[in-house]
Amino acid sequence: MPEPMPESPAAAPAPRDDAFTLFDLRVEVIATDRPMVCNHPAGDFFTLRGENLAFPPGQTFPLYPLAALLPLLPAKQRPTHPNDWMTTDAEIACPDPYCGGRFRITRTGTTTFRHADVTLVPLPPEDSV
Ligand SMILES: [Zn+2]
Repeated sequence: MPEPMPESPAAAPAPRDDAFTLFDLRVEVIATDRPMVCNHPAGDFFTLRGENLAFPPGQTFPLYPLAALLPLLPAKQRPTHPNDWMTTDAEIACPDPYCGGRFRITRTGTTTFRHADVTLVPLPPEDSV
């Protein structure tokens, strides 16, 4: 009886595409007709790509406005329904009621990630999706 032929690489199943895309964000301080109370001058900004916040060299950003913005950013990174307020509303008020600052969240581009690069949780089998 002949030995079975080793499986050729061409017969192996194609690797599963586990890519997904998130929006890159820019959050910029916008002035209003009311004075700023916090240390966030108009024009200051930070960016978010994936899980990474980035600030221009030497620029700081106050803790309390950042804490107010953080829950919104993962939703803004993901595609949302055109009628969803999360899609249309881009300006967030400073949480200090005496501060006139606002923060504009802009989707500046996209970055594609691979599931296997960002988590150890396996994807469900393809036939169960
Ligand atoms: Zn403020």
